[in-house]
This record gives sequence, C-alpha cells and structure tokens, in this order.
Amino acid sequence: MASERLRIGIDLGGTKIAGIALDAEGATRAEVRVPTPRGDYAGTLDAIAGLVAALERQAGTREASVGVGMPGAVSRATGLIKNANSIWLNGRPFAEDLAARLGRPVRVENDANCLAVSEAVDGAGAGAAVVWAIILGTGVGSGIALRGQALTGLNAIAGEWGHNPLPSPRDDERPGPACYCGRHGCIETWLSGPGLAADFLRCTGQAASGEAIVALSRAGDAAATAAMARHRDRLGRGIAHVVNILDPDVIVLGGGLSRVEGLVAALPEAIAPHVFSDAFDTPVRASRHGDASGVRGAAWLWGTT
Ligand SMILES: [Zn+2]
Repeated sequence: MASERLRIGIDLGGTKIAGIALDAEGATRAEVRVPTPRGDYAGTLDAIAGLVAALERQAGTREASVGVGMPGAVSRATGLIKNANSIWLNGRPFAEDLAARLGRPVRVENDANCLAVSEAVDGAGAGAAVVWAIILGTGVGSGIALRGQALTGLNAIAGEWGHNPLPSPRDDERPGPACYCGRHGCIETWLSGPGLAADFLRCTGQAASGEAIVALSRAGDAAATAAMARHRDRLGRGIAHVVNILDPDVIVLGGGLSRVEGLVAALPEAIAPHVFSDAFDTPVRASRHGDASGVRGAAWLWGTT
C-alpha cells in the first residue's frame, strides 16, 4: 500500500552498521549493511544517512521512521552519548545530529534494549508484558522491554547488568578479575566470552578462546566442561538476583554464548536455588531473531501500530 509507513532500524556496531526496513507485519522489505567508519564521527553520520537512503530506495518508499540501536546510551542530563565502546561517539549529540541530517526525528536506544524490544514484539517473548533480554557475547549487557517498549530509565542505564558484581561470590571468586570500568568482579568479567577464556586460563594455565572452550567441552574435555559448568552456575546466580527485583515474565538470551548447546535448557536449574521464591517458573528462552534482533528492535522503537 502506498500509504504504508515503513520502519527503518539501524544497528550501529563497532565493525558494521546494519539496516533493515520493516513493514507493519514485521516483514523485511529491504536490508543493507556497510562497514563502520571506525573513529570517524562525521563518517558514521554519512554512512547511516547513506544506509537510510539505500533502504528507502530498495523498499520504494520515503520518509520511513528511523530507530537506531547502539552500545551506550543518550545521556538524559546532556543529550550526549555516553558509555559507548565505539568511543568516537561518546560526548557527541548523535541523536540530534542524525535527526538534522535525515530531516526527521530519530529514536536512539541501547542495543540490549533493542534486543528486548525485538523479542517482546514478535520474538521469544512475544505477548509477554515484561521481557528481560541478556546479551552474552564479547561483552555482557541486558535490556528490559515493558509491553513492547524499551525501559530507558532515569539515568538511561536500565538493564545495565554487566557491571554489577557477581552475586554470592565464593571465596575463590573474590575480589574477582579487574574490569576496564575500574571495579573488580563485574558480571561481564566472568560471563563474557573473554571472561570465560580468562577463567579457563586461571584454572588450567591453558590459553583458549571462549569459542574453543565451548568446542572442547562439546568434545568431552573435562577441564572445558568444568569451565562451562562454572560459567552456568555464575550465570544462574547473576540472573537470580535480577529475578528477585524485576520478576520478568520471560528471560531471553542473545549473543554468541547464548547458542551454547544445552545452556538455555539447563539455566532454570542454575537460577532456581538463588531465587527468593517457593517456585521458579519463568521461561528462559534463546532469542528468536538472533543477530537480527538489533536492527528489528531499533525499527520497533517507533511502535507497532
Ligand atoms: Zn565493570
């Protein structure tokens, strides 16, 4: 239909910028990706503007709504980007500059919040009122969607879970690894891919990547299997403490480590002992849209109706 307004979602990552145009039913009408101009703020704005134009050309539309997911957040205090590991964006009025460039309003959200929105709208948490989505990858973060909308929070840090300390640490987990944020024992330092690798190195003296440890474990290696068991137990503790506060309707796992065989199925057993409740019935599911959840959630920042 000519009057149909498409929603463009942009996932601004450290190495690539992905874009998608969705129709009202969530069907993909166009898809484009380009490398991220690393370290180049003006170039990043140019690349996104080019991506939006290409998506509109492909989809045969103009004036689509534009939502952007990115690591970090727009500071409520200043309107400037903060906490982005794509550091050339920090301190910049990115949302404002991009809106001026595109000649339309732009919504910008943290990428973990976009995962939560995507899965809440038509993914593993479809129809659930409160969806908590976790990204387990090179970094660890999470986002919350309330009735399909991102919970940003007063300080724009809602869901920032990766830099909480690992809960209920055992003696050999204290003070925990040093984190780039200046703290020790952050959840990210235990549960990210590099965190898993560091744990394996500490316990075995052997260097192996997170991916290699997963593969070794699948092949029956005892040390790797023990490392995966420690990882699962820590993840269970980390999740349980959030369940005690948020009590979400669905927990969704995304990111590379979420695809570890058997992890999602084994998690309820790892979470339950640490939850303050007679029963733990919360569904724990792998993300439905996988890597596409970033762009899809960004598109849905403009709502579903
Ligand atoms: Zn930290």
